[in-house]
Amino acid sequence: MVGMAVTTMENIFPNNLPDIKDMTLAECEAFVADMGSPRYRATQMFRWLHKQQARNFGEMTNIAQKFRQEIALRARISIVEIAHVLEASDGTRKLLFKLEDGNYVEGVLIPGRNHFTACLSTQVGCRMGCTFCLTGKMGFKRNLRPGEIVSQASALLHFHPDISCGNIVMMGMGEPLDNYDNIIAALKIITSEFGLSFSAQKITISTCGIIPQIARLGKAFPVNLAVSLNAANDEMRTKLMPINKKYPLKELLAVCKDYPMPARRMITFEYILIGGINDSLEDAKKLSSLLREIRCKINLIVWNAIPDFPFASPSQEKVEAFQKEMIRNKYTAIIRASKGSEIMAACGQLGRAKQQTMSLIEA
Ligand code: SF4
Repeated sequence: MVGMAVTTMENIFPNNLPDIKDMTLAECEAFVADMGSPRYRATQMFRWLHKQQARNFGEMTNIAQKFRQEIALRARISIVEIAHVLEASDGTRKLLFKLEDGNYVEGVLIPGRNHFTACLSTQVGCRMGCTFCLTGKMGFKRNLRPGEIVSQASALLHFHPDISCGNIVMMGMGEPLDNYDNIIAALKIITSEFGLSFSAQKITISTCGIIPQIARLGKAFPVNLAVSLNAANDEMRTKLMPINKKYPLKELLAVCKDYPMPARRMITFEYILIGGINDSLEDAKKLSSLLREIRCKINLIVWNAIPDFPFASPSQEKVEAFQKEMIRNKYTAIIRASKGSEIMAACGQLGRAKQQTMSLIEA
């Protein structure tokens, strides 16, 4: 069923009890109703879990002890630990999260003028194989469960007690729409007034372009959409992003055109400028003509050199000429500073924090 957390063996870990953090409020209410308890117990637990970050049922002191003892026999609360934090000179912080099964994922806090943006991972690794992406090189290990996505959001939102989080983006490790049911469940918890109370309008889901799931998402949840485009023709896009073979540009842009964006919002197209690959004036002209019928803005991201990748950064002149051409064609085109690149927290660079952390610890 659309929007329900998927129960798999992954959810029943490690002691065969379901993780209460994976449940949406409706699922939690059904769970406590099954126990013969009143539904408001679910609301109470939700507050403790997501607003107070309770780590066990014993901490939920305004809930009857008998209920706490009973639920502890039927459910558990998963813990996602912050294993390490790396900070870049521009204030970007990359958090390495250790999952219960020993896998690691990364979340990033990106500073803005008055608030920060929290970037979440949705999978351990990724199966999409984009050739410019470090996570893609890792291969795919598994989907994150809803509770693991929510735990990252909670840790990032509470990281700076004095600075608020203005936006959440699902743009970290993994392809969110390849883990569709679990991200929908996580979105329900993050936006619930008893969960993290975060506005759906301030959440952006980024995708490499899985067409059927873009259409589903548009109908299911009023979040913003970002599409990683990176090329203005199918030949080059397929080389950079193999998913383009299955979902080519024309069909991808058609589904984007129909995506029901919230009022006054625009689809964001991400375009990583790679030297000599997709940064020519011809590319900019082609891109302008492709996007003509879509209410959108374009984020131009300058490629960050990553060891072992056969790509070069574009020249400053090429970047500026590309942007100028987009603006001349009446697009909002912003050159995004590559924040956090020295700690490998910039676009396409997630996946190496564990190695960095281990080398720091070993040094
Ligand atoms: S860019 Fe995104 S979709 Fe592509 S391999 Fe990397 S994480 Fe996966």
